[in-house]
Amino acid sequence: MIDFTLSKKQKDVQDGIRSLGKYVIRPMSLSMDRNKEVPEQFLRNFMRLAKGFRSDDVVDPSEEGAAPRERDPNKPSETNRTSAIAAEELAWADAAMLLSVPGPGLGGPPIRATGTPEQKARFFGVFKDMDKGPLKWGAYALTEPGAGSDVAGIRTSCRKEGNEWVLNGRKCYITNGARASWNVVFATVDPSLGRAGHRAFVVEKGTPGFEIGKIEDKMGLRANETAELVFEDCRVPEENLLGGEAAYVSKEGFMTAMKTFDNTRPLVAAMAVGIGRAAYEYARDFVKDNYVLSRPVPRYAAIAERLARVGRRLEAARSLVYRATYMADAGIPNAKEASMSKAAAGQAATFACIEAIEICGAHGSLATEHALLEKWFRDIKVYDIFEGTGNIQRVVISKRLMTGLKAF
Ligand SMILES: Cc1cc2nc3c(=O)[nH]c(=O)nc-3n(C[C@H](O)[C@H](O)[C@H](O)COP(=O)(O)OP(=O)(O)OC[C@H]3O[C@@H](n4cnc5c(N)ncnc54)[C@H](O)[C@@H]3O)c2cc1C
Repeated sequence: MIDFTLSKKQKDVQDGIRSLGKYVIRPMSLSMDRNKEVPEQFLRNFMRLAKGFRSDDVVDPSEEGAAPRERDPNKPSETNRTSAIAAEELAWADAAMLLSVPGPGLGGPPIRATGTPEQKARFFGVFKDMDKGPLKWGAYALTEPGAGSDVAGIRTSCRKEGNEWVLNGRKCYITNGARASWNVVFATVDPSLGRAGHRAFVVEKGTPGFEIGKIEDKMGLRANETAELVFEDCRVPEENLLGGEAAYVSKEGFMTAMKTFDNTRPLVAAMAVGIGRAAYEYARDFVKDNYVLSRPVPRYAAIAERLARVGRRLEAARSLVYRATYMADAGIPNAKEASMSKAAAGQAATFACIEAIEICGAHGSLATEHALLEKWFRDIKVYDIFEGTGNIQRVVISKRLMTGLKAF
């Protein structure tokens, strides 16, 4: 039975990050966007604070591969839902900052899902002692110039030579890909095999034949790095084949990528809700401050009704996020629900950002120093593109509904 009540820990996480977001992150948001970077010192301070917000059953990335933390088997896991709550609050403050937080990032889930114990210890071990040394990132490289939604069509090739794999190809739009200590890179032994030909490798920074291409100049999320990766006869040791040879006897190579999305789509959806809520609250406060006393009541009522529509759609999207994360925490397969949350949140939040600008009139269109609405409008678009576009979520949902022939 899904319970939407937040636990004490979740409430503490929500309250703590909300005030950090309001008083520390939000005030820096526009300057980070302009300078296209999140200051390193800020990220360090944030990481120190974030340790206090971590839910009891969320493992510190640097500890992965060590003995699992003791947990009360009767107490349900809260990891995914707590992460979604934190993601909404951080994205409310600044989504690009959230994507820039050091750690394994999107590269973490495939290693967690299919890495051998040695691989987990090695690749998560990279993040140990970050508070004393340089900041470190991991990344996830699947998309190619000719293969975004159509992931089965990747062309980056891999062939085994002795005890190495040789990679050739190009990956694009990779979040934190240039600064990452390692990238989880998907390649194919034979494109004609489709998904069954896929293999996932952990390619470490500095591996010969691995170069960084261009860093993208984006419309939104400008403070976060998006990079192109180039592989030219890049030689990767066989120990870096994720899960080892045994993991690829069936279609596991491809399934690894998909498992990642089941866990991360609701988190991306939660971020979208956070941005949409930021725009909604801005417009609501603007209307309260500027319209109530000075405008005729019918006009105010019409605007309030538009705000109510925005609020309803955001709440509905958040409910889908909570359902998908509840299922993930309970170990229930949630591919359809994860896609539903992402499809709904991308649209609801985009609607919120557009409505907020229109409701604020000319003020909403300003791109001056105080104009966060314009930034959120730019930031939100990608939430209907990355981690599977809105159309792809609808394809996933309809396939599951039609093949299962069970509506809900
Ligand atoms: C800021 C940013 C960060 C990113 N980070 C990463 C990352 O870290 N790692 C990574 O691997 N990738 C990343 N990506 C890439 C992202 O996942 C892809 O852009 C996305 O999957 C869409 O692929 P595409 O751009 O090739 O568009 P296409 O797949 O070419 O889609 C173009 C249009 O066609 C529609 N379409 C395609 N197929 C269908 C279909 N079957 N039915 C209906 N409509 C369809 C799409 O919905 C879309 O509207 C990132 C992208 C951005 C912009």
